[in-house]
Amino acid sequence: MTNQDCIFCKIAKKEIPAEIIFEDDLILAFKDINPQAPSHILIIPKEHFPSLNEIPNEKKGILSHILMNIKKIAQQIGANKNGYRVVLNIGKNAGQEVLHIHFHLLSGRQMTWPPG
Ligand code: 5GP
Ligand code: ZN
Repeated sequence: MTNQDCIFCKIAKKEIPAEIIFEDDLILAFKDINPQAPSHILIIPKEHFPSLNEIPNEKKGILSHILMNIKKIAQQIGANKNGYRVVLNIGKNAGQEVLHIHFHLLSGRQMTWPPG
């Protein structure tokens, strides 16, 4: 299911261009338009869910599918050597701007902690 007004649904349907890194039937990985690290990739399910809060139990498999593909992408871009960060913002206090669940895969520099 897709949402007509959702920018990431439009990217998933190729109605808006993006630099695609990986794609299968269920998910899409593409470069963030405003990178916060030398490599900044977003990974989304093609199905529209606003955030983790709206993922029903029967769809929980998409989460492990995304994470295992993040592992694979990190290996492919060499980020597994020095490490990388995976970020999932949920809701207002986390600063979520796009209401289509997306995992950030950030790498290529030393990260700091705590995050801002
Ligand atoms: P959030 O703050 O919701 O966790 O992250 C949204 C991310 O989506 C931001 O890092 C932002 O740069 C990225 N973004 C927003 N619109 C677009 C777009 O049209 N194309 C791409 N590739 N990234 C986008
Ligand atoms: Zn969407």
